[in-house]
Amino acid sequence: QINEAEVVLFSVPSYACQRRTTLDNHNVTLTDALSLLAENAELSDEDGRGVAFRRAAAVLKALPAPVTAMSQLTGLPCLGDHSLRVIKDILENEASDEVESTKQSDRFKALKVLTGIFGVGSKTADRWIRDGIHNLHQLQESGATLNRAQQAGLEHYDDLNQQVTKAEADAITEIVQEAVVSVLPGAQVVLTGGFRRGKQTGHDVDFLITHPEEGREVGLMPKVVFWLESQGFLLYQKTTRNSYLEVKDGPGRPSSNMDRFERCLSIFKLAKKEERGIKVAVNTVKTRDSVRDHTQSETDQNPQSHSYERHELTNPPAHRRWRAVRVDLVVSPISQFAFALLGWTGSKLFERELRRWAGHEKAMSLSSHALYDNKQSRYLRAASEEEIFAHLGLEYIPPSERNA
Ligand code: ATP
Ligand code: MN
Ligand code: MN
Repeated sequence: QINEAEVVLFSVPSYACQRRTTLDNHNVTLTDALSLLAENAELSDEDGRGVAFRRAAAVLKALPAPVTAMSQLTGLPCLGDHSLRVIKDILENEASDEVESTKQSDRFKALKVLTGIFGVGSKTADRWIRDGIHNLHQLQESGATLNRAQQAGLEHYDDLNQQVTKAEADAITEIVQEAVVSVLPGAQVVLTGGFRRGKQTGHDVDFLITHPEEGREVGLMPKVVFWLESQGFLLYQKTTRNSYLEVKDGPGRPSSNMDRFERCLSIFKLAKKEERGIKVAVNTVKTRDSVRDHTQSETDQNPQSHSYERHELTNPPAHRRWRAVRVDLVVSPISQFAFALLGWTGSKLFERELRRWAGHEKAMSLSSHALYDNKQSRYLRAASEEEIFAHLGLEYIPPSERNA
């Protein structure tokens, strides 16, 4: 870093996985603006543009001080013309017309509302918008067929669009730990995702489960899910079995960043703070809700039933003693644990950059299962995240500094 007439010049390496990005972001206004354009691009199926904006935002997140002049950005990586124009507008006029008009556009607002439903992606939302559906009310009136995930997503819309707190994540950690240890003593549960990176809130809670003895984890997920279900902790769950050994493209070379671990996407029924600690499963408490939930689960079997129409979306009953929280569970064998941990800790951009670094700079293929060295034609083993960084020739970056 050179000091030149009081203007601080910044310098950052080009890959996000080479940088230490804490939650201490000195350029929130700029990164919020670029993230919004990234989100808009992703929702419009323009992934290339989305990544470009994400990379630009990540560079600004890594700066040690606020940007005050365009001249400070000279030589920084990942800042394309478009991103620079947005930054310039904000530095000069306090706002970017492009960002403001995107934010206010009917299409963006509709995409946000509709993809805010768990189970609804940009393709479905786009189709609905073309059918004239722009909000939840219109969706309900439309008679559109919703799958089981989307029905649950719509039913718990307000809860699921409210950030999960660290305290709620801790409460869920205890429940998951109890479930896992009850069905397989010695099994281990690790909190991953944003909470492992030190975030105080998140859109869900992510867990990785393993057992120190290879093979003991097989068949674990259905047992955990059964335990949680029988205790009344699950409002929704969909378990996908492990398909790692079934694929033709081979381990370490997945066709996308999707991994093939046994996984459960779920919605937890978490007792409100004042109710927690009462060692009674939430749904055994006789409230109007529990009765309602029971009828609900029966109608859930029928995809044609528009059972959600009976529920208020905007005004949840005040007496409710619980709230819905999205929870992701992943089971990994111990031999792949370090890769799974690294892959599920995020951030998404940090992961993407790790894989890009591995491929472009090291001729290696990194996934949440393994690291393959294309030059040596062999897999590189690792028992810890530190070892994976070392294999990749990268300085170790702890989770709290992976907030790119
Ligand atoms: P938030 O606080 O919003 O939940 P997060 O960083 O925890 O932020 P998630 O979407 O929960 O974001 O993802 C956590 C991690 O899991 C990310 O690193 C992501 O790459 C990884 N991940 C999520 N879905 C998949 C998937 N289908 N396959 C592989 N990895 C995934
Ligand atoms: Mn998460
Ligand atoms: Mn998640």
